[in-house]
Amino acid sequence: FRSQPKVDLQTGMATQAEALVRWQTDEGLIIPPDKFIPIFEKKYLISSLDQYVFKKVCAFIRRRLDAGLPVNTISVNVSRLQFYNSDFVKTYEDIKNKFRIPDHLLEIEITESIAFDNVTFLEKTVSELKSKGFLISIDDFGTGYSSLTYLKHLTVSTIKIDQSFVRGILVNKDDIAILHGILGMAAAFQRTVIAEGVETENQIKALNHYACTYQQGFYYAPTMEKDVLMKVLGSTLEESRITIEEEKLKMKR
Ligand code: C2E
Ligand code: CA
Ligand code: CA
Repeated sequence: FRSQPKVDLQTGMATQAEALVRWQTDEGLIIPPDKFIPIFEKKYLISSLDQYVFKKVCAFIRRRLDAGLPVNTISVNVSRLQFYNSDFVKTYEDIKNKFRIPDHLLEIEITESIAFDNVTFLEKTVSELKSKGFLISIDDFGTGYSSLTYLKHLTVSTIKIDQSFVRGILVNKDDIAILHGILGMAAAFQRTVIAEGVETENQIKALNHYACTYQQGFYYAPTMEKDVLMKVLGSTLEESRITIEEEKLKMKR
């Protein structure tokens, strides 16, 4: 898997990260998930893929813990099929235990479209996951048909505002209104909000204007190898920028 850091502009640090699956061919070509996830979904293999990534993330954290190195929370994506597996929570809990990962180092990202299919099931699953020490975030928020009031009952830790709103904030009044609404409601319910897909300084200015200071996107960092990620996590934005530039130079050589 590759990984992208999440930055907290209040502390000026890259603090957490998201694991994003990649397919590497025998020739060393890297294929993005949009190209192969639909095939895995069709063949009902997507749950195994999610679990595979999850195990890799756990193994990675375990190696760092064993080596006495600092660790940060890493989030994984789960598909709809995975989420509705009757043994989903148990499977993820068993893996977490097998690798002896302490609580709150693993976050599960569920997309808003899964989230609001079946609210009763969702609430139950979220509270079970939480009781097993997982953090939970709702991905692509704002794209589905969710009612904001569901969030009152859903004790997820983080709401990830979809990239489309971040792109829209500089041009589209509706997007600004929605962003504003989500932020206000999230503050009322004490949920953290992160903006995804941040690419430009103007977007950052606009987000900061609305006090949305937790951000993720290509402006800060591309998706990167685990080892590079670890150099970036826990460092300041300026240090991260230098590390990323150095790595790009190495790749060119
Ligand atoms: P996502 O979870 O919404 O992940 C964010 C996607 O946006 C990633 O694409 C990331 O590389 C990309 N991105 C990050 N910053 C920027 C930016 O500033 N601008 C733009 N335009 N894009 C940005 P990626 O890695 O290709 O993943 C695409 C989707 O594939 C993910 O969207 C997620 O839904 C899915 N996915 C990735 N890994 C997994 C996995 O392990 N399991 C499952 N079920 N789905 C996964
Ligand atoms: Ca995600
Ligand atoms: Ca997303």
